[in-house]
Amino acid sequence: MAKRRQPNLFEPSEAPAPAEAVTREGVAVRELRCKSLLNCSGGDDYSFNCYTGCGHGCVYCYARFMQRFHPHEEPWGRFVDVKINAPEVLTRQLRRLAPGSVFTCSACDGWQPVERRYKLTRRCCQMLLEAGFRLRILTKSELVLRDLDVFAGRDVCLGVTITTPDEAQARLWEPKASSVSARVRILRQAKAARLKTTVMFGPLLPAISDTPGALDRLFALAAEADVDQIWTDAMNPRPRVWPSVQQFLRRHRPDLVEPYRRILFNAADRARYQKELRGRIRRAAAGAGLLDRLP
Ligand code: SF4
Repeated sequence: MAKRRQPNLFEPSEAPAPAEAVTREGVAVRELRCKSLLNCSGGDDYSFNCYTGCGHGCVYCYARFMQRFHPHEEPWGRFVDVKINAPEVLTRQLRRLAPGSVFTCSACDGWQPVERRYKLTRRCCQMLLEAGFRLRILTKSELVLRDLDVFAGRDVCLGVTITTPDEAQARLWEPKASSVSARVRILRQAKAARLKTTVMFGPLLPAISDTPGALDRLFALAAEADVDQIWTDAMNPRPRVWPSVQQFLRRHRPDLVEPYRRILFNAADRARYQKELRGRIRRAAAGAGLLDRLP
């Protein structure tokens, strides 16, 4: 099948062609050609995504807004476009870009299931590191451990996202991501490989993983893995997130629909919530002896 060109991150794309394959997990996979891979990024100098879409299908995923620019008939989590020419495009971009810090990845998980077959994130990480760039990785996939050989001895900070310490909740909210225990294993093995490590606790799920008990368990995991830096994030009303979260809550926790709505959309309730949450986070971090690891 002829490969089509895919515009950059936020440029609208044409209607997608029929999927070329559907994975065992029911994800429609299409191979495309991109024009550009490395984008300028807010927090870091650059970011890149070898895939549009993410087979992890997290309920709260902030990258859902991508579907506005790249419409697909499948819902978020059920399609992945593979930028098969990513290494070739990156080679061209590396000729003219100054080395800097690269957030890996900003709008998908670079180590989502299709990466096992395509190895595009691995190849691009290798090229970036060889060109003197630094990597700041955030993933929920144990597949990243495959690439420790690429990261060894380089300027890489390997981070994982954990939203809840409860495996059953994680399976519901992040159906195709690695288990919580596997994510802690990533941190331990990265540390053993002498990489800097970080954990993102977020988005913390109101009344589920933002309680004092759940926060204590999260910080105990961070202490067990001896992470270098801990980031936290409250749930945010990003575009397209609420319809997905609301639908999920109606099914699994109808009692939480209204509390979530108030926290997300009522300015006074949101400000009060965020202040209380900051206090709870600091108390949990202090209890685990990790206050100095918060920003
Ligand atoms: S792993 Fe990240 S990008 Fe992928 S669905 Fe989950 S939140 Fe979205």
